[in-house]
Amino acid sequence: MTKKDYYEILGVSRNASGDEIKSAYRKLAMKYHPDRNPGNKDAEESFKECAEAYEVLSDSQKRQRYDQFGHQGVNQTGFTGFDNINDIFSHFGDIFGGFGGGSIFDEFFGGSSSRRRGRSQGIPGSDLKISLKLSYEEIADGVEKTVKIKKQKSCSACGGTGAKSGSGYVTCSVCNGQGEIKQVSRSIFGQFVNVSECHNCNGEGKIIRDKCPNCGGEGRERSEETVNVKVPPGVSEGQYIPMKGKGNAGIRGGHAGDLLIFIEEEKHKYFIRDNDDIIFNLNISIIDAILGADVVVPTLSGKSKLKIEPGTQSGSILRMRDKGIRHLNSSGRGDQLVRIHVFIPKKISAKEKNLLKELNKSENFNPESKDAKGFFKSMFE
Ligand SMILES: [Zn+2]
Ligand SMILES: [Zn+2]
Repeated sequence: MTKKDYYEILGVSRNASGDEIKSAYRKLAMKYHPDRNPGNKDAEESFKECAEAYEVLSDSQKRQRYDQFGHQGVNQTGFTGFDNINDIFSHFGDIFGGFGGGSIFDEFFGGSSSRRRGRSQGIPGSDLKISLKLSYEEIADGVEKTVKIKKQKSCSACGGTGAKSGSGYVTCSVCNGQGEIKQVSRSIFGQFVNVSECHNCNGEGKIIRDKCPNCGGEGRERSEETVNVKVPPGVSEGQYIPMKGKGNAGIRGGHAGDLLIFIEEEKHKYFIRDNDDIIFNLNISIIDAILGADVVVPTLSGKSKLKIEPGTQSGSILRMRDKGIRHLNSSGRGDQLVRIHVFIPKKISAKEKNLLKELNKSENFNPESKDAKGFFKSMFE
């Protein structure tokens, strides 16, 4: 399937500025927005296409790779486009490594994930980043993992309020519970109101009368938590899985941060990963290469039979369909590619030597035979 050119999708020139790209995308996203086109599959497709194009062209690094290498270059960054609308809405920046946190839809459509420091809601907790090492076997079909993390959780003694039980809060006297301080200044242009956060209560509007002795008034304490992570198949190094609200608890009831689980690939003893394909090097004997053989090779899902055809050449690649890694954002899976190495022994017995010398007299073993189509002899004629 050939993909459409990202510039064409957005209807901008190849040297369009960031602002031009943004405004083109905004127009198209509004036009094809599913709320305006209920049940319209074509509009949905266009909506997805535009989001993908914008995601790439709005990122200078991705755009450069795209300009240089086309879609293939972008794929190598781990970006494979969006599978469905929900991907765009809720998982923007999710599994696609390096997309960063915020979704562009917050900006355009007024999304929900913007975290504001609200009064009387405490102070938001920070995100937690951990790495998760996965084997190719685990990546191939996805896996559920249990990880132990150290984090700040809501204080068990005060329930996260930070106040000693029963004593509660008093309203901040500096800002009168507003959490912010307005300063009015006059100038020749008129009156200006300058609003800043109250330093006395950190913008919370209230102050604890008696601090909880367990958490010292923070409303949170260090703890260990066990988290179950569902890893989809086909992930790769550097991508991350976000778990909303699983990060550090906020201060005095503030929103918890997110837990970001970064994928690390474990090196494999036998396999090399090439996107969703798996490369496996197989040594076979000269005899098997000539006569053909049925061999058993390891795959990510266990042993599997492989037929070596008579006359198999060293360096040839045999494809074992669907024995690779499941695709991340589409159905199907990669293949296992078996690279054949014909093993040449270094030590042989006298008897073997004689057998080989005998064989060497045979026309069929001569690389200049009809079978090899006169490899280079013709050069000297
Ligand atoms: Zn406490
Ligand atoms: Zn205050």
